[in-house]
Amino acid sequence: VSRFEGVSMAPPDPILGVSEAFRADTSDVKLNLGVGAYRTEELQPYVLNVVKKAENLMLERGENKEYLPIEGLAAFNKVTAELLFGADSPVIQQGRVATVQSLSGTGSLRLAAAFIQRYFPDAKVLISSPSWGNHKNIFNDARVPWAEYRYYDPRTVGLDFEGMLEDIEAAQDGSFILLHGCAHNPTGIDPTPEQWAKIADLIEEKNHIPFFDVAYQGFASGSLDADASSVRTFASRGLELFVAQSYSKNLGLYSERIGAINVVCSSPDAAARVKSQLKRIARPMYSNPPVHGARIVANVVGDPNLFNEWKQEMELMAGRIKNVRKRLFDNLSEKDNNEKDWSFILRQIGMFSYTGLNKAQSDNMTDKWHVYMTKDGRISLAGLSLAKCEYLAQAIIDSFY
Ligand code: PLP
Repeated sequence: VSRFEGVSMAPPDPILGVSEAFRADTSDVKLNLGVGAYRTEELQPYVLNVVKKAENLMLERGENKEYLPIEGLAAFNKVTAELLFGADSPVIQQGRVATVQSLSGTGSLRLAAAFIQRYFPDAKVLISSPSWGNHKNIFNDARVPWAEYRYYDPRTVGLDFEGMLEDIEAAQDGSFILLHGCAHNPTGIDPTPEQWAKIADLIEEKNHIPFFDVAYQGFASGSLDADASSVRTFASRGLELFVAQSYSKNLGLYSERIGAINVVCSSPDAAARVKSQLKRIARPMYSNPPVHGARIVANVVGDPNLFNEWKQEMELMAGRIKNVRKRLFDNLSEKDNNEKDWSFILRQIGMFSYTGLNKAQSDNMTDKWHVYMTKDGRISLAGLSLAKCEYLAQAIIDSFY
């Protein structure tokens, strides 16, 4: 008899489990719209040209594989904070940001969660309802209590702005408010700049601490600056805040696990102390981060030619997703005899569309149409080609009615 009799079978991950089910399906019309990874029009994974060039540079330079410091590659930490806040931002100029390279967005969130658990044991984190499924897991595992704030309004398939403000207002002063910097996952619904300003007013008034998750900078709109404007609005008010960054999507470095946690503090002294404690948490957890992705980012952002080329490739990726979004909307509008207004799809941003399909309807998408998607009705447009839009529209309409 095994000593592991008491270990029950864990359920499959609601997002990564979709890919497992997709692989097992033998139909040739099958479509994987579950996981958020960019595909070409031919539905193949894409390695950016700038990434290949940056990797060639690394080989030419004959760089070694020595350990990085606990906080990561200095050249990466410098450019990643500059990319986020803008190189001329006062928070950078005044040395008020503690930046630690970590294991992509997820690892950065987890490191910050451990920090919150240690230094803010009485604080709650408020997470949007809905949110990326892993947020709750991350704070649960770090033993950080969390609650939800209203975000999505099913009647408009838009933002429940009033509900969001009410819930942020009602939270205990000094709570952490987890915000998606751009391209909200799963809904694709972002606040407008005016709404962001009101959210910032309220957070400031309540002495809350904003915690941004930025997983799509440059990937949402095609512009690195536009996609960072929410974070910059808050930083320019002199607020202390957290930002987790990821290069999985915008540089296509999914498996390199490259990202950072940035903590903006009100003084350089506080930033130095915060950074020292983040390092102290990272050391027994994973010791130090991997170098490969950090060098790619540092090479791309640090070289004006590669940087420009990256921006073009990002516009190309964001543009393909926008084209698919438009085509899907057109096909839905054409095929729908009930003349439902599908224009919410055009108002959403980023790689996802929240279709408004419920669990039973999403099940029909998979069981009858071989369209693999999460059960909350989210589809990844990055996994869709123009050629498949018509088929998908047919499946959505069949499942919806
Ligand atoms: N945060 C959000 C909102 C995401 O959508 C994702 C990826 O899907 C992540 C964080 C983290 O991704 P990674 O750990 O690959 O950086």
